[in-house]
Amino acid sequence: MTTDIRVGQGFDIHRFGDDPERTLVLGGVQFPGERPLIGHSDADVPAHAITDALLAAAGLGDLGSRFPDTDAAWKDANSIEMLRSVADEVRSLGWTIGNASAAIVCEQPRIAPAREQMQAHLEVACGAPVTVTGRRAEGLGAIGRVEGIACWAVVVISR
Ligand SMILES: [Zn+2]
Repeated sequence: MTTDIRVGQGFDIHRFGDDPERTLVLGGVQFPGERPLIGHSDADVPAHAITDALLAAAGLGDLGSRFPDTDAAWKDANSIEMLRSVADEVRSLGWTIGNASAAIVCEQPRIAPAREQMQAHLEVACGAPVTVTGRRAEGLGAIGRVEGIACWAVVVISR
């Protein structure tokens, strides 16, 4: 019997906003005092990117079709819970999640001080090792102009 190994790539991006009711959340970690992101859910960019990658790896579509922003059920949703439900679904199809790697690109906030806490939240939700890395866009493009935060993620699953 051969092992079926699949890779999935995910992406997410959200724009900064000034809604005083919202708090910036990345990888389940709150950043009070930082500019929040606009989104239908809590706009947790790394959680969304990893969820998107898991869906892609398992051939289950993408984040937008799974959690449409027209669906009131996902308004202000906790994205860590969204990730947990998709990880559970992927496992229920017989897949083992190997690991996930998420690269956050932003000018603010600084990722490094919260990296381990983000990884811990994402690992609990995924049930697998998660690596979070952060880097800046060196002033280039929309991310460099501090208009938002983007994240690329990759996951490996096998069965
Ligand atoms: Zn998103």
